[in-house]
Amino acid sequence: MNLHPTSPVILTLLTLAMPAYAADVGSPFYGDAPDAHHPWAVHDRNRPQPELVTPGTFSTQAQPGKPPSDAVILFDGADLSKWEADEGQGVPTKWVIKNGAMECVPGSGYIRTKDKFGDCQLHVEWAAPTNVRGDSQGRGNSGVFLMGLVEVQVLDNYNNPTYADGFAGSVYGVNPPLANALRPPGEFQTYDIVFRRPIYKDGAALDPGRVTVFLNGVLVQDNTMLEGGTGHRVRSKPGPFPETGPLKLQDHGNPVRYRNIWYRPLPPRAIEGGTDGYLTTEATAAKRAAIAASIRADAEKLKNPSNPVPEMLRLAESLVYERDETASQRAGELANQYWANLQQLSSEKLAEKKDEVKHLRDVCVYLARCGVITEDADSKVQLEKLIQEKQWDKP
Ligand code: MG
Repeated sequence: MNLHPTSPVILTLLTLAMPAYAADVGSPFYGDAPDAHHPWAVHDRNRPQPELVTPGTFSTQAQPGKPPSDAVILFDGADLSKWEADEGQGVPTKWVIKNGAMECVPGSGYIRTKDKFGDCQLHVEWAAPTNVRGDSQGRGNSGVFLMGLVEVQVLDNYNNPTYADGFAGSVYGVNPPLANALRPPGEFQTYDIVFRRPIYKDGAALDPGRVTVFLNGVLVQDNTMLEGGTGHRVRSKPGPFPETGPLKLQDHGNPVRYRNIWYRPLPPRAIEGGTDGYLTTEATAAKRAAIAASIRADAEKLKNPSNPVPEMLRLAESLVYERDETASQRAGELANQYWANLQQLSSEKLAEKKDEVKHLRDVCVYLARCGVITEDADSKVQLEKLIQEKQWDKP
């Protein structure tokens, strides 16, 4: 039988399915359980909510945009208090501010942030001089040096060819940009960069590091693997990076301008203690134990002699993350207490418990699926039998 999605049969089936779906979505006993590499269940309600960030606004040529609410602002057009010369700590830079942008003074040297930071989302806007001079690497050259080590090239490549791995948006000397998406010189260009530094342990790379770059909204570096720091004429050499470093902007002898520079630090990766992503078995076990402990602490607050259900459910939930003899025993006692209470009820009062009993049966099915209880556990069998006797599963 071929059924159109809007056929009455399909619609009826959907309607029947909806309440169950809606009821289950909020339940902790819903998605696949934590496993050896994922400390959270699928659709886990215990997982922390994402941080609230108020988005910024996009820039126009006339006006820089507003950074997102949690950005660390490095340059907002007004002052260079967060910057210094690359010669040494506290040495003032000779770069100057003109019309809301900082401008490289040729021969004055690199400028760097006083802040040191590592993995980040970085936003930088730059403009090559309107007055076009020189060619190839000699025209509007500067550079954004991540941690002071990896150069994302800044160059006026508008009608100006050069070697591919030295174009604007290249990881200099390593990887050309995927496209030349430059605006004419004098106009502001935008870099949005996602940077993950290399991480080493005992001399071996756990993660070689990655950089993604959008130039004027066009992807030019697609999660490009780092091969170490960058340099002129030299092959970059893989090796450990420090934890943090300053952001540096290059003086390459051209009065390139910058504005609207900000970054957002990124959370740790799983390999450096982060708890999202694909974790090692050890890290997963540790996180699962921590989640279970916090749920057990929460269960403690739900103790209620006249209603064992909330505490029982929370304890059962904790067992999905970590087996714990005390929690298991207490949940079992509460289940026995619940069952004994049910036996005391008149058939009228028992009928009022239909939805709760069915939910607890579903929880037992889930727990059996996760291996927390066995398929023939007393509590599960008792509830299933009761539901069958009362024909509560019939629509
Ligand atoms: Mg450069």
